[in-house]
Amino acid sequence: MSSKYIAIKKSAIHGRGVFAKQNIKKGACIIEYLGEKITKAEADIRTKKRMKFSRKNRFLGGVYIFELNKRYDLDGLAVKNNPARLINHSCLPNCEAVNDSGRIWIRALKNIKKGEELKYNYGYEFGDDWKDYPCNCKSKNCIGYILHRKNWNKIRKLKNEKKHRKKDARTKKSSGGAFRRS
Ligand SMILES: [Zn+2]
Repeated sequence: MSSKYIAIKKSAIHGRGVFAKQNIKKGACIIEYLGEKITKAEADIRTKKRMKFSRKNRFLGGVYIFELNKRYDLDGLAVKNNPARLINHSCLPNCEAVNDSGRIWIRALKNIKKGEELKYNYGYEFGDDWKDYPCNCKSKNCIGYILHRKNWNKIRKLKNEKKHRKKDARTKKSSGGAFRRS
């Protein structure tokens, strides 16, 4: 599968990325995300396997499984020629993945200039392992982890709590010092 819109090049975010070969208008369907249609049960097995691998080999693996509907998912790693799976995640995306009656398309969220890297939010759910997926998108609003935007407030709260805990620890330390002096 190729598209007149894209070129594959080394990315500053991660590995190889997908770049605009020409100016792309907002709303354009850039490329289809191809894959094998699999049942949820099969998707669970493959997801677990890949997550285990990517935790061990940070920045090497990915899951590449999209939810299609209640019964089926799409495995983007099971087909050979699926350049859309090289599109990186970003907290400030210029594309989105849309499900058009069971087919996944990467669509432009805004006007994209020739040479820009294409990015979309992977939309990961907030699980126990969210810390295993750090984000390297380098955008000014980066939340630090690959997560669906709806989870960002949770992360902000956690980060705030951590900051306060650090502050508390510092106060305790200095009062401890005073205690030792007496
Ligand atoms: Zn980010």
